[in-house]
Amino acid sequence: MRRPIVVGNWKMNLNHREATYCVQKLAWILRDANFDYRTCDVVVLPPFTSIRSVQVLAEADNLKIAYGAQAVAATSQGAFTGDVSADMLAALDCSYVIVGHSERRKYHPEDDATLVDETRAILTAGMHPILCVGESYDERKQGIELEYAVGQVNDVTRDLSDDEVSRMLIAYEPVWAIGTGMVANSQTAQDAAHAIREHLASSFSTEVAERVRILYGGSVNSKNASQLMTQAKDMDGFLVGGASLDPDEFSAIVRLTQ
Ligand code: PGA
Repeated sequence: MRRPIVVGNWKMNLNHREATYCVQKLAWILRDANFDYRTCDVVVLPPFTSIRSVQVLAEADNLKIAYGAQAVAATSQGAFTGDVSADMLAALDCSYVIVGHSERRKYHPEDDATLVDETRAILTAGMHPILCVGESYDERKQGIELEYAVGQVNDVTRDLSDDEVSRMLIAYEPVWAIGTGMVANSQTAQDAAHAIREHLASSFSTEVAERVRILYGGSVNSKNASQLMTQAKDMDGFLVGGASLDPDEFSAIVRLTQ
């Protein structure tokens, strides 16, 4: 059985003081609700500058909320101004790192080989990559959304081993749903998650396909998450952007998984 997971992608929001407050409040709300962390992984992905503050808080308060980063460099060290390596993130006890978010694909274009190198760097450092895939409105209009999303999965995973792929998570995030308030319906999310799982089964093995957790992302909030969770059977959780900045709202989504 795959454990549900809810990941908050804070994007470029919350400085280190705000991040500390946000995580602390989230932990308090979940504690007061007697939330059982064994039933669902709860993860936040702050900007780089806030990760150390979250680590300090996690150590001091023995938090069960995991955390990670929104991007990583493909190389391990050296003359790469502005980049942050996987080893640096692992040293901050990060557990999860996003690869290929559509906003990164748009504003910091990277080729598939670079995304593969990033994925390998994350895995080698002992963390879990969250590979983001999903079609834009154009591909959906053409009716090629499933081929498109599965193709993006294939582009990054095809040269990886079964063991490497089984430690990954895949987030299906249709670009037209991100930050727009236009959430995919549960059938759309289920179709994509199912197509991705079938692809993993045929390219790797049924064991790999059964182990990889597939998330939905795109305008998730506490009102639409419940239907997605119960009706999209191949989906194991959510990658939440805007709604993860409000601990009340984010904790409400987390609690829907129970
Ligand atoms: P959103 O973002 O929930 O604000 O649509 C999701 C994401 O980009 O991961």
